[in-house]
Amino acid sequence: MGKITGFLEYERKVSAETAPGDRIKNWNEFHIPLSEAEQKKQGARCMDCGVPFCQAGVMMGGMVSGCPLNNLIPEWNDLVYTGNWQQAFNRLKKTNSFPEFTSRVCPAPCEAACTCGLNGDPVAVKENERAIIENAYKSGIAGPNPPSVRTGKKVAVIGSGPAGLAAADQLNKRGHLVTVFERSDRPGGLLMYGIPNMKLEKWVIHRKIEVMKEEGVTFVTNADVGRTYKANRILKEFDRVILACGASNPRDIDVPGRDGAGICFAVDFLKATTKSFLDTGLEDGNYISARDKHVVVIGGGDTGNDCVGAAIRHGCASVTQLEMMPEPPRKRAGNNTWPEWPRILKVDYGQEEAAWVFGKDPRVYQTTVKEFLKDPEGKVCGVITVSLEPKQDPETGRAYMAPVEGSERELPADLVLIAAGFTGAQSYVAEAFGVELDGRTNVAAAKDSYKTSADRIFTAGDMHRGQSLVVWAIREGREVAREVDKSLMGYSNLA
Ligand SMILES: Cc1cc2nc3c(=O)[nH]c(=O)nc-3n(C[C@H](O)[C@H](O)[C@H](O)COP(=O)(O)OP(=O)(O)OC[C@H]3O[C@@H](n4cnc5c(N)ncnc54)[C@H](O)[C@@H]3O)c2cc1C
Ligand code: SF4
Repeated sequence: MGKITGFLEYERKVSAETAPGDRIKNWNEFHIPLSEAEQKKQGARCMDCGVPFCQAGVMMGGMVSGCPLNNLIPEWNDLVYTGNWQQAFNRLKKTNSFPEFTSRVCPAPCEAACTCGLNGDPVAVKENERAIIENAYKSGIAGPNPPSVRTGKKVAVIGSGPAGLAAADQLNKRGHLVTVFERSDRPGGLLMYGIPNMKLEKWVIHRKIEVMKEEGVTFVTNADVGRTYKANRILKEFDRVILACGASNPRDIDVPGRDGAGICFAVDFLKATTKSFLDTGLEDGNYISARDKHVVVIGGGDTGNDCVGAAIRHGCASVTQLEMMPEPPRKRAGNNTWPEWPRILKVDYGQEEAAWVFGKDPRVYQTTVKEFLKDPEGKVCGVITVSLEPKQDPETGRAYMAPVEGSERELPADLVLIAAGFTGAQSYVAEAFGVELDGRTNVAAAKDSYKTSADRIFTAGDMHRGQSLVVWAIREGREVAREVDKSLMGYSNLA
């Protein structure tokens, strides 16, 4: 284990953050990593539990508890403590294809399940992970490591998000020839064009893609498979196909006035901002600007928070974030015990920045939009909101949020960003390959085999499981790779 008395001697310490007033002036990541000496102390806090919930990755109370990748967390915490960075990297890479992504964007279910968190502060697992991977790049051990033998089998991966990238990485390491097709101009999926730059700087993705290219993975960008790039061509040229196109059908808000100009989906707003930022540093103006606008974000989740952070960096006049559900408690409720994921109030970076700029948290709970107001030119100029209260259907027992009569309010709005989640995969790729969808419009697959209804075609990630997290996408990418390898070779040693 780390240091036997480490958890008693050392307090949890995580990277400092640039103050909100400074960080909103740019689009850079704003965490300032700990010194190596301090990071080692954080490794020393791990107790090497006999039952390490941190690495369990099991579902409890409808949410995951512990790491879905089953990262060997106690092992590498100890290796961080002893400064054995190379071995720490080897153990980390055994289960996680992309620690450079998860150590920046993962909500860290490992920490939520850490035993140290039961009566104190959890081990700083996520930042230990980041220290290991960044150290590995710095010392040159995270560079290209191409396979020595090729099998001659060809696999096409459609979609270059974390699921597609993880599958491609694993299959390439196994010696198969992998081509990743991506309809955008840059690979990375929502890592590139969803998660904003201040949360994940895009050079981090570029760095990994370059390593994968040097290892032999081929990337074809601007290839919209099923539309501009024919599915039949792919089926003819490749032995296996993996569909990893994400769950990109945004859930809409179907109320009067929805056709008003200035109402758009969160991902379109975030994508345009990142693309313009990467192309020209926002000089080309090819993005939806929030400058001097009253912004209303519909959706109180992480995507909504990213919109708040981005709108503030654009220089918005105000920002309000509407959330249908009640405000979560500040402490775990009695029926939400450790090591379950804590369903408590979280103040994310965007909300912190909004509080700094406008003096208050932007979230308004138990509220939704009843109508969008338009000016004579058809542009959105306001929203009518309505309060909601929890109710239960007496026949089905189903809980739902019902509008409260007479609770309508008007809010000014020049830009409305809909961040209300996603409703499954876009059907055209599924149709092009003739694969069936399930009842939630995800691509259906046989349990644990990731095999679709069509011969030689597999699926993984959000396209298969519905809107989720990067860490789950990586897990599914690795698992589908094993299944594809098995189907090609008759067996698989892939982890
Ligand atoms: C704004 C936002 C912020 C998020 N923040 C976080 C976070 O902080 N932490 C976290 O863990 N999760 C976060 N998520 C969720 C996470 O990004 C996703 O769960 C994850 O990216 C899913 O990975 P994926 O590979 O399945 O799909 P995606 O990342 O969606 O990638 C799918 C790729 O397929 C491509 N594609 C689609 N159709 C075609 C086609 N026909 N031909 C070729 N290519 C195609 C798409 O262009 C895309 O690049 C966020 C999601 C959003 C929307
Ligand atoms: S639960 Fe926490 S203390 Fe225990 S092994 Fe995992 S990281 Fe270490």
